[in-house]
Amino acid sequence: MIDNTLKSQDKSSILIIYTGGTIGMREDPADQTLKPFDFSQIMEEVPELRKFACRIDSYTFDPLIDSSDVEPAMWQELAGIIGRRYDDYDGFVVLHGTDTMSFTASALSFMLDGLEKPVVLTGSQLPIGRPRTDGKENLVSAVEIASAKDADGHALVPEVAVYFDARLLRGNRTTKVNAEHFDAFRSPNLPPLAEAGISIRYNMGIIRRPDRWGSPLKVMPELDTRVSILKIHPGITPQVVSNILLGAETRAVIIETYGSGNAISKDWFINLLKVAGDMGKILGRLKEAGVVSGRDSTTESMLAKLFHLMGASRDNAWVKSKLEENLKGEISE
Ligand code: ASP
Repeated sequence: MIDNTLKSQDKSSILIIYTGGTIGMREDPADQTLKPFDFSQIMEEVPELRKFACRIDSYTFDPLIDSSDVEPAMWQELAGIIGRRYDDYDGFVVLHGTDTMSFTASALSFMLDGLEKPVVLTGSQLPIGRPRTDGKENLVSAVEIASAKDADGHALVPEVAVYFDARLLRGNRTTKVNAEHFDAFRSPNLPPLAEAGISIRYNMGIIRRPDRWGSPLKVMPELDTRVSILKIHPGITPQVVSNILLGAETRAVIIETYGSGNAISKDWFINLLKVAGDMGKILGRLKEAGVVSGRDSTTESMLAKLFHLMGASRDNAWVKSKLEENLKGEISE
C-alpha cells in the first residue's frame, strides 16, 4: 500500500519502503513493548522530513520482516516494488533491520540492472521512538541523499547504498561489524561514497555513474540459492569439508580462507577441491587451480552475486567467468 504523506510543488519524489527492523519501532506506553509505528504518519514522527521540498510516499511491508528472517523471496519482492515504481520516484529509501542489511543491499545491486536512481538502505540501532535514537538522523540523511541531484537533474548517487552513522557506503561492499554501537557498518575495501557532517560531502571520484543516462531499469529477479559457505578453521575435518564441497544440493561453494587467501595446504583438502571441481561445482574465493577468486569482495556480496549469476544461467563456466568480473563495483579493479 502506498501512502501519500506530503505533497508540494515537488522537486523530487521519494518512496520510503519500510520492510521491518528496529528503526520503525516505538514503545507502546500501555505495556512498554515495542510496536511498529504507522508509516502513513511518518511526518508526525519525523517532522524534520517536512523541511525537504520533496514529495515523500511510504510503502510498508505486510507482514513486517525482522531482518534475521529475510529470505531471497523478500529481495525479489523489494526489487519488484522498486521496478514497478521506478518511473514515479527520483529515489528510494529502504528501511531494513541491520542484521542482514548488507545481504539485501548486495542482492539489490545485482538485481537492479541499469540503475540510475538512488536506492539507499538504512535502519537504526535504537527505535525511532526512543529519545537517543540514531534512526532519525539515519532516515533524514538517507532521504536527503536519495533526493540529491546534480545541475543536470541526474541523481548524485545512482547506486544501491547503505547509509549509517554519518557514512554512505556502497551497498555491496558493506558488512555489519557492530551490534552495540551506532557505527554498525563498514566497507572494508572502499572509502565511503559520502560523509555527513555539517553538510553531506560526496566522494564523486568513486560513485558509479552511467556514461550515458537514459537507459531503462531492468529488474533481474531470478536467483539460484544453491550455495554453501565453507569457513576454514584449525581442526576442520575431511568429513566436514567433503560434506559441504561435494553435497548434492550445492552448485557453488564459497570458501572463506584466512585473511590473505591462504587455506589448508594438506593433500586431502587439495584433493577434495579437485573432486568438487571435476564434478563441475563452482568454487569461489581461493586463488588455486579450478577455484575462482572473489578478490576483495565481501562474503555477503559474493553470495548474492552467485545467487544472481546462477539464477541467470545454468552454464557454470559462464558463472565462473562472470564471478571474476567487477559487475557493480563489488570488487576493486
Ligand atoms: N533484529 C533486527 C533486524 O535486523 C535488528 C535491527 O533492526 O537492527 O531486523
